[in-house]
Amino acid sequence: MLIDTHCHLTYPGLQEQQADVVQRAQQAGVGKIISIGTHPADHPGTLDASARFEAVFSALGIHPHHAGEVGEDFAEPLEKLVRASQKVVAIGECGLDYHGNSAPQIVQKKVFGLQLELAKKLRLPVILHVRDAHEDTLKIMRNFPDLRFVIHCFSGTPQEAQHWIQLGAHVGFTGIVTYKNAPGVREACKLVPENRLLVETDAPYLSPQPVRKMKINEPAFVTHVAAQVAVERGCDAAHVAAITTQNAGELFGAQILHH
Ligand SMILES: [Zn+2]
Repeated sequence: MLIDTHCHLTYPGLQEQQADVVQRAQQAGVGKIISIGTHPADHPGTLDASARFEAVFSALGIHPHHAGEVGEDFAEPLEKLVRASQKVVAIGECGLDYHGNSAPQIVQKKVFGLQLELAKKLRLPVILHVRDAHEDTLKIMRNFPDLRFVIHCFSGTPQEAQHWIQLGAHVGFTGIVTYKNAPGVREACKLVPENRLLVETDAPYLSPQPVRKMKINEPAFVTHVAAQVAVERGCDAAHVAAITTQNAGELFGAQILHH
């Protein structure tokens, strides 16, 4: 069994066909899916998907792209939603994204920090979105040594991957690992220890080869990600499935393995 540890079932392209998407995932051997809610208006739909489908779990957070849209009082309603659902397995995705600078850096840091405090309080792992903000994110995470977290959709350099591994992170790989123009990500994929490796789609984005540009991405295609990870690491895909599923259970809780 494979687990797609990061997708967005509420985003256009997937929302309209959730039941089919979940069914195709299961047929492809993708037994569990974690769907990520990225802003307050997205949270109810995300929870709804995890309530409707036994195979779907959720994570709730404020994506750095949306950090400027919430007030500092967002954490309390978020905590209530998380506490009320049995299927929320993480806080996030949250983090820093200086690529487009959709919100001022100081606002992003504030909203990120509040979510880390919440995760600590709720004893939940965190799903991190980091883009062009490696140093600042690393600095902040060093203040939360007890938090367990994954660097979702790793897109940095091998050296950056090393920094995260040293800090105890899990590292999630998407379809980027199948792209010719991402040699650094493939290199990083080789050096992540077995017990920290995760696979994900980030669907509906980042369709992997060989379906890149032909189809919108969906959880079933995490099989292509796992196959490429296996090639890079010189092992077979069944082994990648076994270790990444075990790692997902350790990070997000055994309930996602047995539900
Ligand atoms: Zn995402």
